[in-house]
Amino acid sequence: MTDVLGTHTTELSGRAAQLLRDLGADLPTPGALTARTPITGEPLLTLAATEADAVDAAIDRAATAFRSWRVVPAPARAALVRRLAELLVAHRRELAELVTLEAGKIRAEALGEVQEMIDVCEFAIGLSRQLYGYTMPSERPGHRLMETWHPLGVVGVISAFNFPVAVWSWNTALALVCGDTVVWKPSDTTPLTALACHALLRRAAVEVGADPEVHQLIQGGSEVGARLVDDERVALVSATGSVRMGRIVGPRVAARFGRCLLELGGNNGAVVTPSADLELASRAIVFAAAGTAGQRCTSLRRLIVHSEVAAPLLQRLTKAYRQLRVGNPLDDGVLVGPLINERGYGAMRSALDRALADGGELLCGGERVDGFGTDAHYVTPAIVRMPAQTEVVREETFAPILYVLEYQDFDTAIALHNAVPQGLSSAVFTRDQREAERFLAADGSDCGIANVNIGTSGAEIGGAFGGEKQTGGGRESGSDSWKAYMRRATNTVNYSTQLPLAQGIKFE
Ligand code: NAD
Repeated sequence: MTDVLGTHTTELSGRAAQLLRDLGADLPTPGALTARTPITGEPLLTLAATEADAVDAAIDRAATAFRSWRVVPAPARAALVRRLAELLVAHRRELAELVTLEAGKIRAEALGEVQEMIDVCEFAIGLSRQLYGYTMPSERPGHRLMETWHPLGVVGVISAFNFPVAVWSWNTALALVCGDTVVWKPSDTTPLTALACHALLRRAAVEVGADPEVHQLIQGGSEVGARLVDDERVALVSATGSVRMGRIVGPRVAARFGRCLLELGGNNGAVVTPSADLELASRAIVFAAAGTAGQRCTSLRRLIVHSEVAAPLLQRLTKAYRQLRVGNPLDDGVLVGPLINERGYGAMRSALDRALADGGELLCGGERVDGFGTDAHYVTPAIVRMPAQTEVVREETFAPILYVLEYQDFDTAIALHNAVPQGLSSAVFTRDQREAERFLAADGSDCGIANVNIGTSGAEIGGAFGGEKQTGGGRESGSDSWKAYMRRATNTVNYSTQLPLAQGIKFE
């Protein structure tokens, strides 16, 4: 069929197949799982979900590979990640295009996601020589006290649809240099990009002489993820997705005393104070709130603006919003692509209805953009002025809705900002150093990410990424997040001829 884009669905599905081949992945055997493109809403390819016994076998292979991978020196393990980075550089355009086809990201954002993969590989390569443990002074003469970091085991990676490849690379690049093996369960909405990443990594392993079994891919929905969650051989479950998913996964992993790294939903806010540079703030706000069609965990969803600057800021924002080009993410000049599926569209509609019922005023956007086929869901990003932070504002709706609240004093702004269950990313726009510092202080933003004069989205890989409260508490990527992928041993070495006991205890 031909849609109004002039794009044949068969063309998109043929293109997806070609990209998979270019990226070195075998075309999947057709099955019950359907990869769709949100560009037209129609199927690209089908594939089979991984059966229960095949999941068990994949975990088994990863556990077996771990036994030899853990004793490969970390800088030698980095050779695999280095080759993966080289392959990503060589194939960045194909992989980014597949991200656009499958997740609907505009080209620039899809390329940015692949760049992030390359960046985190580079970070991990350097890290492989810096998996430092401390040496502490012992209280006993002739003794040395130190800590050693060892590989942890099999890491189960469960990822969300909206960063179909970057989240995998944050986990996998670090896990591999840390000496772990990986079993990946991607979102069942984005199985094709997963096939491509898996193929690139296996090729890298073959080319550097590493065991390709260090990485396993399993495909399917929550029931496939659940097998990973419940398996005792999986030492760490790193799960990215909704709070709803984390509420199930967290307790199940804890019940078997496994480790969990949770990266869950955000409901990110920005405070705009009277001294803010409104031009800079409005550019940052538009990117953070409307970029990726509001489908980033760090998307800006709540704007807390001082009454003195509300009118000029909203004027700028509504003007900029009206100029945003919504459309086919493959087209140049388009800034806002489609929502992932009908459920995403329904969630946006229902949130807007609730906000209006709560007394909200729709300042712009919120309309369906037709002409892309009945199964595609394009919307204009919405700004809604709210009389109060009602229940719908305290929830994460994974769509481009920006709620605006006004404040008069900074303490109230911080209190409003923190009065949501999630704690991922936050920002303050101000030229007042006291306000900036207060926002970053212990009694300021309660989020894992707190920024000054920059939006809530678009984190760099060098810093630890993650959030507090219902966002789950996990940290990935930079800083010392690698520690989540290793186990710490404390070693006391007695190099004297005496046997003094700790705390001065005499036992004779
Ligand atoms: P989702 O929770 O529906 O699914 C995420 C993943 O979890 C998928 O692979 C899914 O199959 C799996 N899953 C769901 N239930 C499971 C269960 N009971 N057991 C095992 N696995 C299960 O999320 P989504 O719609 O794909 O992604 C959007 C959500 O992800 C948003 O809430 C967003 O904020 C969040 N997200 C968070 C981060 C972060 O770093 N904090 C990053 C990206 C996305």
